Amino acid sequence: MLLGKFLSGEVSKLEPVYDADAGYRYPIIEKIVGDPKAVDEFLKQLADVGVLKRELYDRTIFCPDCGSAKTSIHYNCPYCKSFDVEKSSLIEHVQCGYIDTEQHFRSGEQLICPRCHKELTKPDVDYRKAGIWCVCNSCSKSFDIPVPSHFCRKCQFAFTFEDALYEDVYRYTLSPEAGREASLGWIMVNPIRQFLEGKGYKVETPGVLKGKSGASHLFDVTASLKDDVKETLVIDIATATEDEVTEQPVIALFAKIYDVSPGCACLIAVPKISENGERMAKLYNIILLETKDPSEVMKRFKDSVP
Ligand SMILES: [Zn+2]
Ligand SMILES: [Zn+2]
Ligand SMILES: [Zn+2]
Repeated sequence: MLLGKFLSGEVSKLEPVYDADAGYRYPIIEKIVGDPKAVDEFLKQLADVGVLKRELYDRTIFCPDCGSAKTSIHYNCPYCKSFDVEKSSLIEHVQCGYIDTEQHFRSGEQLICPRCHKELTKPDVDYRKAGIWCVCNSCSKSFDIPVPSHFCRKCQFAFTFEDALYEDVYRYTLSPEAGREASLGWIMVNPIRQFLEGKGYKVETPGVLKGKSGASHLFDVTASLKDDVKETLVIDIATATEDEVTEQPVIALFAKIYDVSPGCACLIAVPKISENGERMAKLYNIILLETKDPSEVMKRFKDSVP
């Protein structure tokens, strides 16, 4: 389902969506896997096997006490640890070299040098910003570098970087290799889907059907009329890794249709099937479509599938 979204262009990049409490989420994936807690593992597995490529998007700070991502940063006084810290800019009067905080230069709308009483008008010519200066409202000490800490806006727990849960957040794209392989299937599946839908079939790609044993089986395409399994067509696509498709996908398809008993089963083999595979397909009543050119599959499909 996810590959289909990538290949149809519905999704080009899988970017996380910010959620104040949960941190980041992937709503598209949540819809596919159902359980929001299973999303990270699902994406990790697809990245591990090389289907998805991931890159670092952000990092989330979670409260170690309640697990919420609703956290803020506090900049604290290094002496008394209070976050009641006033931040101001340092200004240097270029001509006389006097440096002080901006409020000491401020006189209404104007900036006046407290030492030489000249007016400062042109930034970077008359004066320049010489950094940041902080004054603690609690202990009155001043400093230039505050100490950061975190505050949980959900449970009000204050914590440091040391205790913070700090996690990577990724953006995902389809890896070029997986894209090539999947688009081959997509090139075939999409016209088949449109053709069958035009004939009034309900088409799922991929589709899941329950067998007599109670097990669910996955097919590349299922197409049904009136939700009756006896009227259902199932299709699997097998692409050869060497020069021909072995009998293995025929056996796999047979095992599934033995349990499901669909009206009709079809195997598309790209570019062709082995002799043994062809023999077994005949034996198991599986319609075999061989095609070198995946875009030609539609023509063969119309000719061969009743
Ligand atoms: Zn908390
Ligand atoms: Zn202080
Ligand atoms: Zn001055």
